[in-house]
Amino acid sequence: MNSNERLTRRQLLGVTVTTAAGLAGVAAVAKAQTAPAAFPHLDEKDPQAAALHYVHDVKLVDPKKSPTFKPGQHCANCLQITGKDGDTWRPCNIFPKKLVNANGWCSVWAKKPGTA
Ligand code: SF4
Repeated sequence: MNSNERLTRRQLLGVTVTTAAGLAGVAAVAKAQTAPAAFPHLDEKDPQAAALHYVHDVKLVDPKKSPTFKPGQHCANCLQITGKDGDTWRPCNIFPKKLVNANGWCSVWAKKPGTA
């Protein structure tokens, strides 16, 4: 192995490390840009939210419009909610890239296993 070959290996290693660091940085930025905490709150007037009778406060559910509603149902104990227990605003699988209120409700509600 001559010195030119060694230099080439060093250069290659440097490019590999630099590329890996660059990709890691891009991934971190992409993740930060789509972090759930950055999502906007779902608007009750959003057409999909309105169609599913979503409300931020379960006390405002209209039983005439939402006859499937039962006391005790709310977003925090729904199968579709994600994010961290205890957070007031959390992601929901039904409303991508929006946050729903943990005390809200919509007609898609389904009991999350293991919740009261
Ligand atoms: S699907 Fe569940 S978590 Fe999502 S808005 Fe409706 S009740 Fe809330």
